Amino acid sequence: MNIELVDLKNQYKKIKSEVDESIMDILSNATFINGPKVKSFTANLAKYLNVKHVIPVANGTDALQIALMALDLKPGDEVITPSFTYIATAEVIALLKLKPVFVDVELDTFTINCNSLKRMISDKTKAIIPVHLYGQCANMEDIMAIAQKNNLKVVEDTAQAIGSDYTFSNGEKSKAGTIGDIGCTSFFPSKNLGCYGDGGAIFTNNDDLAAKIKMIANHGQSKRYYHDVIGVNSRLDSIQAAVLDVKLKHLDSYCQERQKVAKFYNELFKPFSDLIETPSEASFSTHVYHQYTIKLKGIDREEFQNALSAKKVPSNIYYPLPIHLQKGFLNLDRRLDNLENTEKLMKSVLSLPIHTEMDDEQLNYIKEAIVSYLKTQKSLVK
Ligand SMILES: *Cc1c(COP(=O)(O)O)cnc(C)c1O
Repeated sequence: MNIELVDLKNQYKKIKSEVDESIMDILSNATFINGPKVKSFTANLAKYLNVKHVIPVANGTDALQIALMALDLKPGDEVITPSFTYIATAEVIALLKLKPVFVDVELDTFTINCNSLKRMISDKTKAIIPVHLYGQCANMEDIMAIAQKNNLKVVEDTAQAIGSDYTFSNGEKSKAGTIGDIGCTSFFPSKNLGCYGDGGAIFTNNDDLAAKIKMIANHGQSKRYYHDVIGVNSRLDSIQAAVLDVKLKHLDSYCQERQKVAKFYNELFKPFSDLIETPSEASFSTHVYHQYTIKLKGIDREEFQNALSAKKVPSNIYYPLPIHLQKGFLNLDRRLDNLENTEKLMKSVLSLPIHTEMDDEQLNYIKEAIVSYLKTQKSLVK
């Protein structure tokens, strides 16, 4: 049995003819950069997300950096973000000489804790980057209300939650990444909508921000060879767009496949609720399960991982060290709230294999490996 954390090989097999044709088209037309495929994919993605502007860029980290550059912040301005996230979210803040302010997350949803957010707002605060970690949205309604009240910009990091639906208390729905002033995503191969290399995109409904973002991503150029601002070179190439245009059509069914796996895991852990806490789904967001992440209660994480690994069932810790404890961030000008939940989660989370290609045979094999270990633990507890 070959279990993978993500199975891109078998996923490709199912869409091979479509993808191959789409890529071959680029090769024969030699439209490698800014070709028609990039335009059609971005238009299709804008339609899918119901957002006015999609600006394609080279990767998700660039998307975040360019989004912050478009907000005209000054060195020392503060940007609030959770510490319990992937490094890219905070890296771009530091890179632009802005001051990261780290807030805590909720223990059950792993997303921003709004009390911590409110506590950490100062005169210097200019923006918030909520992260839709593991595949479900942060509490955007509250975050947007807090942002509005304090005149802050909101940049959503939706690298892990593309396709997720947010429902407001009035019943209106929006796609993840289209609620804040700007949304950023990554098309890294293992993401829910992944290409076959690097890629990313920026979303906004604001025309002025869209114009600025386009300019910054293209060397600060307003007109060819006329550079109005300092920009960067960040492009999604046509071959990646060709892959993404095919995969976008499958995104909803990919999300459903992941949700099925999550349901299977939820069931299997039911008898072990004293040892394992399964992921909670927030009432306001669908969960697209980029990761299926459990919390261990009183069992040794390394030993559990080793037991699974002995049966060739991979697992991973996202992330073993929160940003505020990373060496590169220790001596940085920064502010921290009490990050009690973050530090608790760092020690107890574990992500299990979840992808679009899992069949019953694989799921039952994983179940066997998990259950046989947990049974030994249960008998120890008793
Ligand atoms: C993957 C990811 C990114 C960065 O995307 P890249 O395309 O790898 O640069 C940023 N934030 C989060 C939460 C991610 O998971």
